[in-house]
This record gives sequence, C-alpha cells and structure tokens, in this order.
Amino acid sequence: MRIITSRVEPPVIVVHGGAGSWKRVFNDPDYPYSLQDISGLIKKSIEEGYRVLESKEALLAVVESVKVLEDSGMLNAGIGSALNIAGEAEMDAAVMDSKGRVGAVGAVKYPRNPVQLALLVALETDHVVIVGKGADMLAEKYGLEQRGVPPDHIFKRYNRLLSDLIQGKETELRWKKILKLAKLYGYIADTVGAVALDENGTLAVAASTGGIWLKHPGRLGDTPIIGAGFYANEKVAVAATGYGEVITKSLASRTLAEYIDRDMDLREACKQTILRAEEIGGKRVIGVIAVTSEAEVCLAYDTDGMPSGYKAKDKEYLIEL
Ligand code: ASP
Repeated sequence: MRIITSRVEPPVIVVHGGAGSWKRVFNDPDYPYSLQDISGLIKKSIEEGYRVLESKEALLAVVESVKVLEDSGMLNAGIGSALNIAGEAEMDAAVMDSKGRVGAVGAVKYPRNPVQLALLVALETDHVVIVGKGADMLAEKYGLEQRGVPPDHIFKRYNRLLSDLIQGKETELRWKKILKLAKLYGYIADTVGAVALDENGTLAVAASTGGIWLKHPGRLGDTPIIGAGFYANEKVAVAATGYGEVITKSLASRTLAEYIDRDMDLREACKQTILRAEEIGGKRVIGVIAVTSEAEVCLAYDTDGMPSGYKAKDKEYLIEL
C-alpha cells in the first residue's frame, strides 16, 4: 500500500488516472503510450483543472480535469473506455460537491464526455442518477459532443482478452461467470477522477470510467454510485478507483468520509478505507484520492500503480509510478 499526504494552501486540485496493473499495461505490446505520456497527461489535466479553479468553483474545475483525461484515449474513460463483453463502450460518470449538487450517469454510450453529462444531471434535472438510453437521450438533446471511434489499441485488447477468456487462459480479469452468460447471449461470434477545494471552501469530486473489460452489458461499477466511487460533503471530497464491485460493497468513498467525521486523520482514514476494501476483495483492488476542507490531500492505492498528482497554490506533486 502506498499513501501520500500533504497539507497545502488552497485552492488545490488532485487528479488520478486509475489504480490498476500499470506494469502489465506498459508491457502490453498493443498499448502505444509510455510512462512519460501518462505522466504528461496527468500533469496537463491538473494544470487545466487548476486554471479553472483559479477563477471558478471546484465543481467546474474537477469536470475540466476529468474531461481532459476522457479526451485523451490513453485511459479507461471517454474515448479510451474499456469495452464490455459485447464489444461496446458503456461508460459511468459522476460529480458531487459540498453544496449538495450531485449527478451521475451509468452505462451511457453516446457522449464523448460522460462527466459533462453527469454535470448536466446535477444542474439541469430533478434527478441524481440517470442510466442507459434515457441518459444518452439527454446528452443528445443538450447537444453534447458524440463519442467517436476508439483508438486501435482498444480493439486489439478486446480481441486478445476475449480470446484468452474463451481458451480458458489466465487473464487479469476477476470475472468467473461472464463466459457462460456470453455464450448464452451469443456474443461469442483505466477510470479517472479529480477532487478539489476552491478558495471559497467548496469541495467537489468528478469521476468517469469505461468500467472493467468484458463486463456484462448494463453493469454499473462504483463510479456512478454515491458513496461508492465518489462522495463529497463539507469536510472531504473523495474519488475511488479499482475493482468496482469491491469498492461498491465496501462503500469506499462514504466510508472514508465517515472516518473523517470521527476525527480520524486523513492518512489513517485512507489506510483504513483500503484495508476495508481488501477485507472484501483481497489485495490490489483500490485507489483513492481525497481532499479535506482543511486543505489536506491524500493519494493512496494498493495496486501496482496509480498515475496521479495535485497542484495547490504553494506546491505541486506528481506520483512516480
Ligand atoms: N472502478 C471502475 C469500475 O469498476 C474501474 C476503474 O477504476 O478502473 O467500473
């Protein structure tokens, strides 16, 4: 487990590009990006979000940072989203802030930037979560940009994982039942997030993901579930990443907020949140980023990497994988 904490001067924004098996990703001959590319992208996302944070509120800043990551095609969100067992991208995203604004979308296919659609749900609808066709309809009606064709490496990875699954080869996937279901239906023929504290003391979180490779169509991960993949209140904003089923069962983001409520320090709260997830799902399952109203930041994960970093008025930091 790796935990990095710091007290900074607000405003501050923290960004992550997904907790996972980054060593395997960089060894994948079909993955065209290097460690430097990913670090450069995280830095760009932090810079763009921070630029917004200097003049606007935290909610808009976290959306901006996540949008940069969704647009990159390098991470598991937006254009670079993992494909489900049917070969389609179904994306989840969410936003929330300490003023009580919250919106999430699940299993959407239409928008290039699901995080913008989650913001729309928060600001323009009476609801908290909208999924599937209804959410896609909202995106279209509001003129959000449509998602284009994913990069080549996404299709190559899909084909390889699917063929490994069919041949019964060992993969990094934890799915045990999907192959049987996929045969029944006849199909066989990396999450991002940001948390911020603005100069007015508002905390916000945004998250977006393609979910986990070869998932069942319609599956929602932790990302659109309040308290699981994201949470913000007056004391802390949290985004989680990793194995969605475990994060959901352990209600990771809300659990972390409860530890803060009980006056646990942020470092310990992140550690306990990870341990709780590990009790449910074993090792290497989760990463979290968090910022408190006292301008303390935390980046923590138990996987072999989580490209991430932060920028505050007085300092900035980028994790070296
Ligand atoms: N948590 C996401 C999900 O399970 C995946 C990730 O964080 O990469 O949908």
